[in-house]
Amino acid sequence: MTGKRGWKLSEGIESIEMLDIAVRLLSGGVRPTHVESVTKVSKHRLSALWNNIHGHPAKGQTPAFAYTFLKNSRAAKQAAIYLSVYRAMVKEYREIGIGQDDLKLFLNSFDFYAAYSRGFNTLDMEQCFYLWRDYRKKSVILRFCSRCQSNYVHSEHQDAADCLRSCQHCKTILRARRKGPAKQIENLNGIIVPDAEKPRLLENR
Ligand SMILES: [Zn+2]
Repeated sequence: MTGKRGWKLSEGIESIEMLDIAVRLLSGGVRPTHVESVTKVSKHRLSALWNNIHGHPAKGQTPAFAYTFLKNSRAAKQAAIYLSVYRAMVKEYREIGIGQDDLKLFLNSFDFYAAYSRGFNTLDMEQCFYLWRDYRKKSVILRFCSRCQSNYVHSEHQDAADCLRSCQHCKTILRARRKGPAKQIENLNGIIVPDAEKPRLLENR
């Protein structure tokens, strides 16, 4: 049995579960168009839900590729953290038959990332959704840098920002070295440190 505008009523509990996932995605700012593509809940229903959640219709362009919001090293480093969490979860859950396209796996990986990255230029769910989509399409790649032993995001796309061409962590280290000896801090977390023991922001030897 199919309800108005394509909503299948016969799928019972599965539909309710998918609707629940759709509401979580919409609440996180993922636009109805994208939610429709992964949940198959009708666009009409999703637009109505979006309106209920946000109080206004979903408007504006959505990025065709994740790298459109990965314009600087800080965002790129966050993307590497999120994708590292996601990739670790994919490996963990593969053994019990949960695939990388599983929407609950996406939501869980985002929750885990958000819980531990709060306050540090954290990416929002919508941004992580594009990363999740593009990582699986391989237009955004997670690479390991043998020099600094860290994961970083990489994109070969012609429009990708320069920060996605090489390791973002090595760039930060290089920039810090160029700045020369770091300034001394007078007071660290409210504790007055004796002159001889003043901590340095960076060691440059
Ligand atoms: Zn590196």
